[in-house]
Amino acid sequence: MTNARAAGPDAASFRYRIGFGTWVNDMRPEPLPLDQWPSPRFDDLTVEGLFRTLDTMAAAGYQYLDAFGLWGTNDYPPDIVSAFADRERNRRVERVLQAARARGIEMVLPLGVFTWGYGRIIRDDPAVRGLDDRGQPHPHAMCGARDRAWGYLERLIDTFFARHDFAAVHLESADLGYCACPECAGRDGSVAYNARLNQRAAQYIKSRWPACLVYVCPINWAPWGLGASGQQRTFTAEQMQAVRALSQHIDLFMDQGHRGRFIDDCGIAELACAYGTSGGLWAYHGCRMDRLSYLLPYPTRAARHLAEHHRLGARGALVYQGPMVNPAVELNSTVAGLAMQDVRRDPAELIGEAIDQLYRPVTQAAADSLAALFASLEEAYFGAWDAGRFTAGQAMEVPGEFCLGPLFNTFADPPVFLLEPYLDAFGRQALKTALRGALAAAEDLHGAFDDGGRLRRLRRALQVMAQLLSAVMLARGEAGGS
Ligand SMILES: [Zn+2]
Repeated sequence: MTNARAAGPDAASFRYRIGFGTWVNDMRPEPLPLDQWPSPRFDDLTVEGLFRTLDTMAAAGYQYLDAFGLWGTNDYPPDIVSAFADRERNRRVERVLQAARARGIEMVLPLGVFTWGYGRIIRDDPAVRGLDDRGQPHPHAMCGARDRAWGYLERLIDTFFARHDFAAVHLESADLGYCACPECAGRDGSVAYNARLNQRAAQYIKSRWPACLVYVCPINWAPWGLGASGQQRTFTAEQMQAVRALSQHIDLFMDQGHRGRFIDDCGIAELACAYGTSGGLWAYHGCRMDRLSYLLPYPTRAARHLAEHHRLGARGALVYQGPMVNPAVELNSTVAGLAMQDVRRDPAELIGEAIDQLYRPVTQAAADSLAALFASLEEAYFGAWDAGRFTAGQAMEVPGEFCLGPLFNTFADPPVFLLEPYLDAFGRQALKTALRGALAAAEDLHGAFDDGGRLRRLRRALQVMAQLLSAVMLARGEAGGS
């Protein structure tokens, strides 16, 4: 039994409460400072991170965990099945699958559709390789007009399901681009082509596993960028036709909103399936940043965004998780989970419940003080974001998704979240003041909780973040005074 049955009525709750890993090592309790993104590892610490995430999610009422990288990352072999032959990996993955079920959470099969996973296949079998928009061989995508390409995808799906009876599939076709040849996006346009690819994949899955929840993430179907309204350009009426056709064949269209949503408020009701988002604001953690080198709580914003998206008609949410050893990540995830079960609840009440659950405070004053600490940091950091800095640099909406460091890198990540466009000199100074207050408050809270080491980890995260901030301010010539 999943936690679905514990949910409240649809009128105040999300029907599909999904945690998004994103990649398995993004949840890892310790960093991998030298690993390129995404790291293909699946070791005991990967498993530990997944277990911790499942524990947090189960306590907060999530139903599904969607995590890429269980068996492969970029390079499934042409025979497909040999990617699943590593006994040690299979043993670990099996432990995770069982742990999820034991906690009432279903693991999602995240599936790149013609991109993500096919790098080796298009090298070894160039006939299935797609073309980019200049007519050159595509670096990542297979061509949707090649039957043999569909054969690879279907074999991959079959092999996944042979290993585990997945309750849900996440389809994603364009994150690394798509084929633009004259039979694919070159003819249909990117939205109609990607809708067509996902529809065919969904039909294949539904024909064989009719009860499986199928959702589609349209990342990169259309460019991010502001329209005349000053907001993200949404799908045109013609593009919406293709999306509506797709919506007949899937359960959920997950318009995540990395830099604004693709479907406008009116378009939500046109879909034949449910509509979902990623809750308006989320940190992307990667695997290289030290897990206790930052503390970025956004529980109030998460709860407010989820309530707003629910009001607009969203009934699914793909909420980003992360390394749960980080106390802010854990709080963000917990509050979002609670909010999805009843969007009418006040964010402060949800945060109070999460603190009671996670920290077991000895006194109400201690709980209030900790809530105030998180609130002050949330406001000091996210309150200092300025839409003008984001739109001026990139003509895009305020993230959505913000990456703590660069995605592609092979050395410990710099703390780009302390730099422009996120924070300017004024914001850094305000954050310094907030960190000073938080460090003092955390010191005073010593002994106030039965928290499994959470306050200690919180203090370390504050300390290292303060140190990183000091380094940035020194390098920028902003460190004068105290
Ligand atoms: Zn093509």
